[in-house]
Amino acid sequence: MARAVRIHQTGGPEQLQVEEIDVPAPGPGEVLLRQTACGVNFIDCYHRSGLYPLPQLPHGIGVEACGVVEAVGDGVRGVQTGERMAYATPPPGAYAEARVLPADRLIPVPDEVEDAVAGGTTLRGLTAWLLLHRTFPVRRGHTLLIHAAAGGVGQILCQWADYLGATVIGTVGDEDKAQVAAEHGCHHPILYTQDDFREKVEAITGGRGVDVVYDSVGAATFEASLDCLRPLGMMVSYGNASGAPPAIEPGLLAQKGSLFLTRPVLFHYIADRHELLAGASAYYDALTQGVIEPAVGRRYPLEKAARAHTDLEARATTGATVLDLGA
Ligand code: NDP
Repeated sequence: MARAVRIHQTGGPEQLQVEEIDVPAPGPGEVLLRQTACGVNFIDCYHRSGLYPLPQLPHGIGVEACGVVEAVGDGVRGVQTGERMAYATPPPGAYAEARVLPADRLIPVPDEVEDAVAGGTTLRGLTAWLLLHRTFPVRRGHTLLIHAAAGGVGQILCQWADYLGATVIGTVGDEDKAQVAAEHGCHHPILYTQDDFREKVEAITGGRGVDVVYDSVGAATFEASLDCLRPLGMMVSYGNASGAPPAIEPGLLAQKGSLFLTRPVLFHYIADRHELLAGASAYYDALTQGVIEPAVGRRYPLEKAARAHTDLEARATTGATVLDLGA
């Protein structure tokens, strides 16, 4: 048995309930992980609210965690009991003290990376990796616009992009977040709650526009973001924190300068195990070499999962939000 957070119907944070669940023995190709920390990600809010449908209800929530391997099923190679592992994978169910998972989704965690960082930032680190190294490979001299620059993914993106030699423009909701972003690699924080970020970007780039926009905010920022791009620039729409972005006609991309548009999903980029391990080692190397400071923000016990969702959705957090599972 283990304590886990589940929902019986979609809706607000009050739907998150702590329950006792059975944890089966691992089957062939599976491992049992005793979990120590898990990440609270925006995707969990989309699953809870119904924006991203779950296959059935009741259902667990959460797609990343870290823990210690407690038992190994038949046929599993290269994973031993007692090893520390992280993962970032569907199906949801990570808000739990213990869990059975496919062994080929596990990522070995270096000793230098503490549990809250592995359990709470691996999904965001992999997301930053795919955005900066796969969808639009960032090079020295590029200029980027990163929305929600003080957020969990945002802070990692800014630090990594700064290290890669890019000029980083970032949007933030308030002055405190502007400070946080500036301390984490964002060269030009913009308060998009009070300033028109389109005008600010135009001024900062001398009218040229940015090479790429990384937009996790969605509905509130999508259209104006297209105006921030240089001709042939790349719009990367990767999240919906303010709601889903509007549908657009392909002709709009032509009109605004033969723009490129992509809508990446992390799980497609890491479906191949070699890519999963390449992304994870790039992120963990960046952490252990000090390129990226671990972006753990607020920590909550499992029974405060609803509070964690409320704070994340209320824009009250910076960095990654984590549930301590106390194992
Ligand atoms: P964040 O820590 O970035 O939190 C979201 C931030 O978005 C808020 O802090 C807030 O920052 C900003 N925001 C702007 N408008 C709103 C609004 N109306 N309601 C709530 N927040 C708003 O979250 P995460 O690091 O967990 O995730 C960041 C984004 O990345 C999410 O959109 C998520 O879906 C996406 N993502 C996508 C993945 C993919 O595979 N495509 C994988 C992982 C994450 P501010 O106050 O500064 O505006």
